[in-house]
Amino acid sequence: MDAAAVAAAASSQQPAAAPPLAGRVAIVTGASRGIGRAIAAHLSALGASVVVGYASSAAEADALAAGLPRAVAVRADVADEAGVRSLFDAAESAFGAGAPHIVVANAAVLDDKYPTLVDTSTADFDRTFAVNTRGAFLCLREAAHRLPRGGGGRIVAITSSVVGSHPTGYSAYTASKAAVEAMMRTMAKELKGTRITANCVAPGATATDMFFAGKSEERVDEIKATNPMGRLGEAGDIAPVVGFLCTDAAEWVNGQVIRVNGGYV
Ligand code: NAP
Repeated sequence: MDAAAVAAAASSQQPAAAPPLAGRVAIVTGASRGIGRAIAAHLSALGASVVVGYASSAAEADALAAGLPRAVAVRADVADEAGVRSLFDAAESAFGAGAPHIVVANAAVLDDKYPTLVDTSTADFDRTFAVNTRGAFLCLREAAHRLPRGGGGRIVAITSSVVGSHPTGYSAYTASKAAVEAMMRTMAKELKGTRITANCVAPGATATDMFFAGKSEERVDEIKATNPMGRLGEAGDIAPVVGFLCTDAAEWVNGQVIRVNGGYV
């Protein structure tokens, strides 16, 4: 036998390594569409059992859950305290695996009128903060109560690179995400001793329903052209970064905001 054949024979006798998130339960909010959907599918591919959270897209959420090996779709408005508790209850009961190890607070809304601050209505401001900031807060707080201590606990919030670029027409949205980044950085310190990590992933312009809503083709082309990569991000550019943060290999990444945007800010 030559060396390559010996190596092949030896590796065929090794038991297959367990996927990195085997035995772990993950909650992903806003997983019916867009970036959250890609994150849920990616965490599943890494071995996690997944709660696919959604607000109104039941058919999309059910179809995603049905196509993954271990997943359930759960409707819950993240702005509602009882709704968020019900997501965690579902995670605990659905797979017989106990409390979730992983929470990805991804659900959010964007005002597709892109108003300047002076033109932002109080109702639109409140709606943005209710879903994006209060929603993330409720998920983070519940996660801090319930995630297991001693290793593998992971909290990731999806924020936005606009916190770094401050584009016009996004003042309430940018502020709602900046608040989440502030909470996350603080929380990572407050979770000292738990071995739970708490990080944000901040995408740039990413081709989803949220991005395209209310934008002309010219505006989309302009945004592509200003990116060093000359294109929009895809949900598949974001999900692997979140996936890495959820693994044991990422324990030393804590309290950070990771911008994933092709270099635009
Ligand atoms: P999207 O395509 O509009 O999807 C939004 C998701 O959030 C949907 O699954 C939606 O559920 C859910 N959702 C909305 N309101 C909710 C509520 N009150 N309770 C529970 N779920 C709710 O958005 P996306 O582009 O994938 O955005 C995902 C994340 O990335 C957001 O945090 C967003 O701010 C951030 N982000 C996006 C971009 C971008 O360019 N796309 C850039 C930077 C950051 P239903 O389907 O049931 O409505």
